Amino acid sequence: MQYAFDIGGSNIEFGVFDADGVVVLHRKASTPREDRDAFVETLSAFVREADVQFGKSPDIGISLAGGIDPKTGAVISANIPAIKDWPIAEALSDILGRSVLVENDADCFALAEASTGAAKEARTVFAIILGTGVGGGIVFDGQFVGGKSGIRGEWGHGNDVTGTLIRHGLSPVVCGCGRVGCLDVWGGARGLERIYAQIHGAKLASNDITAAWQAGDTSAAPVIDIYCDLVARELALMVNVLDPDCVPVGGGLASEAALIAEIDQRVRKQVLGRYDAPLVVPGAYARDGGLRGAALLHQMPGRPKSD
Ligand SMILES: [Zn+2]
Repeated sequence: MQYAFDIGGSNIEFGVFDADGVVVLHRKASTPREDRDAFVETLSAFVREADVQFGKSPDIGISLAGGIDPKTGAVISANIPAIKDWPIAEALSDILGRSVLVENDADCFALAEASTGAAKEARTVFAIILGTGVGGGIVFDGQFVGGKSGIRGEWGHGNDVTGTLIRHGLSPVVCGCGRVGCLDVWGGARGLERIYAQIHGAKLASNDITAAWQAGDTSAAPVIDIYCDLVARELALMVNVLDPDCVPVGGGLASEAALIAEIDQRVRKQVLGRYDAPLVVPGAYARDGGLRGAALLHQMPGRPKSD
């Protein structure tokens, strides 16, 4: 048995996986965002319940919506004040009495896809999240890359899409990171809705926009065109840099197969390399990739395990 958590700003999910990767227990709770004691108790209660049912699992993997400082182990850039600057893996290892490993949720998603998902047997995997905003995780030969700052794969920040916005008649917006021009503002579900709102002066939910586009609605078509233009341009740069074997997509928009196919075709037209088969594809674990990847963390080469 392998225990795994997926910790996000809204919810904490807990899963117990058997040796075949099948989820045999699944629990979910709201994330105690402000209270660390309540946060720890939420995790501890799930672990106690599973220990009673399955006997103690030696290891716990955690997928976190945030980064970890490689030098101190402290949580950075997570939208959960209760665990800010807290060395979460070390602290939880002590509290729960077993080895706890914590990695970014997009990295965990990439690991799950590289293991048994859409990027199975791929050597270089650039997994992208098209969720509320934009994220990404990179796995090369079964390992994560980088390690200097604890932040990586963040292709939604540091861009300057302002020229593309102006060309399409859109107004730039300040990103949550403080910069102007980041794709994160435009490349997720909220971005799709923002494009619709700026073009049409009306609000429409992202899934209604994509449904209208697929039904041939002429008001949705230019919105999708602009969205795919913005995403494909930035993604093409990442593909030129990494030459990935596969770009699995996670997050809420991963369920929009036609949208992903449109992005894929545009990316493959713009990149320098030749990719004859689809490169940007819906992830096999778009819904539970974080949790599934967390369950694999202790199996990565060189990772500590409990005795
Ligand atoms: Zn940004």
